[in-house]
Amino acid sequence: MTRNLRFLVTINTSGSWPEIVSRLFPHRGRFSSMPHLHVLDDFIEEIRNKEPVLREGEDPPDSDYDLYCEKCQGHRRMTIHCLYLAPRIRQAWMSEFHELPLELVPSCFRLTCVQCKADSIAVIYEGPTGPTLAILRSTRGGMTSRHTPPAVSYYLDQAARAQNVGAFSAAVVMYRSALEQLLVQQGYSDGTCGTKIGKLLSDQKAGKAPKWVDQLHEDDLHVLNRLGNGAVHANGGDISKQEVLDAELYAAVTLTFEAVLDAAYERPKREAERRAKLAAAAAKMR
Ligand SMILES: [Zn+2]
Repeated sequence: MTRNLRFLVTINTSGSWPEIVSRLFPHRGRFSSMPHLHVLDDFIEEIRNKEPVLREGEDPPDSDYDLYCEKCQGHRRMTIHCLYLAPRIRQAWMSEFHELPLELVPSCFRLTCVQCKADSIAVIYEGPTGPTLAILRSTRGGMTSRHTPPAVSYYLDQAARAQNVGAFSAAVVMYRSALEQLLVQQGYSDGTCGTKIGKLLSDQKAGKAPKWVDQLHEDDLHVLNRLGNGAVHANGGDISKQEVLDAELYAAVTLTFEAVLDAAYERPKREAERRAKLAAAAAKMR
């Protein structure tokens, strides 16, 4: 068994979303209480809590949970419009059903970003493995950020499109490709993605790496790489290994990549802008 396979086998994705995130990324405690609307269980909890307002069909409610908005390039609350409820749900309150999400198949909602008003359509449908949530967007870009280079953004967009229809293994592979492009863009072009990460971290120890690396936990980069490797390799024909790559794990991956992009591209720009403002103010005082 390869090192990557051993890593995948040890991942336990049972439990609630906060439990999974804190187990996978214990140093990322600030994210542990941030459920995502693209996780089916969290989405159902959200619409159950909002059911009385949703049924009125007027003045639709804002969500308590977030969905990543590709236009705002950040997590935003969404206004929820119910477009279609499954016939059995229409006849009784959701609290009376014991087999949600099965009873919600098929249902359809419009999610509108409270900030930029971009729409997404959320569909709960009967997928090959049971009830599945798909998010169909009116935008493109995925988990990118304002200053992410196009070569990195391309793979993030592909990852988002795969994730939006529940192809999590394909999405995680695209995240690994995005990470590799980021490393190439930062001057680490030799060898595999794992080799590039190793060189970056050894440079960090020697004080030669870009300063943004200090903002991350070294596990962030290794986890993204190992998950991508596990998803793309044949694994001896055993596709059960892919089952760990579900919505909850994908949500944890997106949060980790968001932290990587912020450290590499956004934080340095914010710091530069802050210093420029200070320098301009100081020049006027002379
Ligand atoms: Zn938005």
